[in-house]
Amino acid sequence: MARYIFITGGVVSSLGKGLASAALGALLQARGYTVRLRKLDPYLNVDPGTMSPFEHGEVFVTDDGAETDLDLGHYERFTGVSARQTDSVSSGRIYSNVLEKERRGDYLGKTIQVIPHVTNEIKDFLRIGQDEVDFMLCEIGGTVGDIEGLPFFEAIRQFGQERPRGQCIFMHLTLLPYLAASGELKTKPTQHSVKELRSIGLQPDVLVCRSEHPIPEKEIAKIALFCNVRPEAVIPAYDLKSIYEAPMAYHRAGLDQAVLDAFGIAPAPRPNLARWQDVMDRMTHAEGEVRVAVVGKYTQLEDAYKSIAEALTHGGMANRVRVRAEWVDSETFEREDPAPYLEGFHAILVPGGFGERGTEGMIRAAQFAREKKVPYLGICLGMQMAVIETARNLAGLTDAGSEEFDHEAGQKRFTPVVYHLKEWVQGNHVVARKLSDGKGGTMRLGAYTALLASGSHVAQIYGTTEIEERHRHRYEVDGAYREKLEAAGLVFAGMSPDGRLPETVEVKDHPWYIGVQFHPELKSKPFAPHPLFADFVRAAVEGARLV
Ligand code: GLN
Repeated sequence: MARYIFITGGVVSSLGKGLASAALGALLQARGYTVRLRKLDPYLNVDPGTMSPFEHGEVFVTDDGAETDLDLGHYERFTGVSARQTDSVSSGRIYSNVLEKERRGDYLGKTIQVIPHVTNEIKDFLRIGQDEVDFMLCEIGGTVGDIEGLPFFEAIRQFGQERPRGQCIFMHLTLLPYLAASGELKTKPTQHSVKELRSIGLQPDVLVCRSEHPIPEKEIAKIALFCNVRPEAVIPAYDLKSIYEAPMAYHRAGLDQAVLDAFGIAPAPRPNLARWQDVMDRMTHAEGEVRVAVVGKYTQLEDAYKSIAEALTHGGMANRVRVRAEWVDSETFEREDPAPYLEGFHAILVPGGFGERGTEGMIRAAQFAREKKVPYLGICLGMQMAVIETARNLAGLTDAGSEEFDHEAGQKRFTPVVYHLKEWVQGNHVVARKLSDGKGGTMRLGAYTALLASGSHVAQIYGTTEIEERHRHRYEVDGAYREKLEAAGLVFAGMSPDGRLPETVEVKDHPWYIGVQFHPELKSKPFAPHPLFADFVRAAVEGARLV
């Protein structure tokens, strides 16, 4: 049965709980253990699928088609363990399950209460897959003291109590603010945060203290004393240049040792950190830099394209170069000529997105990349816009567009080269969806196989003709235009196994121009860069050498 590590945060939000959890997962793996990471989010949305990327950052899609929190992306990037639907839950989902059971009469007319009904539902969630791994790491979103979070804190308290002793530990992240005027690090907010935790019955075993300044030994001793934690289990966490330094930095600070000690595991297996040493080596010995323009619409919030930013970094690691990704608002190109903006870049990437706003600008960026022979990677919406661009400018379909935009506008304006997908094959059954099904859960989501034409550029890059990638889309390039577009020079290199859904396109007379209907960025890891990103960056480097 798995041992459980519960990770909570206090003092302020955005302390990097997700990163600390992911790094700890990687370190336990380095010691030979199997792990799974989970996120419990206190918000009331049933899933993050319909939350605005502006507010919540990217939606991370799992193989089994769940739309989850971007923290699951971190977990995967650090551990290589593919996340599942059952690795993420929100208060909204928990309450919705409880209410559904109540309506079904499962509770036999009892009064439904937070304790025990909601907490039982949370504990049932925690137990899923408990026999599959050595360690289950569960991160509770938000900060201790948040009203929404209380049922989760109560549930993990009960859970810890119900397990045999020594099978659950609690790790708490806090911040030590620095007061410049007195030149001191303050421990009081940490003390208060732990006091708050203890008042609801949770005593942390490990404290991770974020700080911008070195924490003196005497402050560590003070925190240990006041928070009732062993001094060796007070782990300093300083700011890092790159998130990929986290496993090594946490290891040096003693995090994995403190966790194993808290479980009473002695002697602890020796860690093999070769994977992370290699990642660090590739980062620190990068030579030169390439600039990649990411032309999209959610450009104000960096987290909206988190996995793309990371996958580009991994592509850089594969080539031992630094990748400078610059976010360009595609709406700019609806007012101005893209050339002066895009000329200085070595590659152009148009990422996924929803809605019409900014898409004409993406189309112009795709045209610039095609005509100027700049490496172009179009992902999901970025592929759809590339297809519309060639349809308009090379195949004579001057009013080509996407049905998505007509639906949004409530009138028909375009020839739907990209149409609303109502039916597709999943495994051995047909999935059917209607527009009226509503926004939540009507997309083609999760891992699907695609077949690549042998000899195509994508097949060459992947080194295979059968791939499996994750999807998240409601619209699709219409195969009916294939002949016309291929005659104009756009090759439909990848298709769904039934031959009906275009999965990848590429421009024939171009050094590197690829559009993909799926999201390769979701599967890239620092220790296993995704082939498309690795080769895209390679092409950018090659182009940079020519100029
Ligand atoms: N809006 C487009 C669709 O639904 C593209 C989606 C995406 O880029 N993830 O098909």
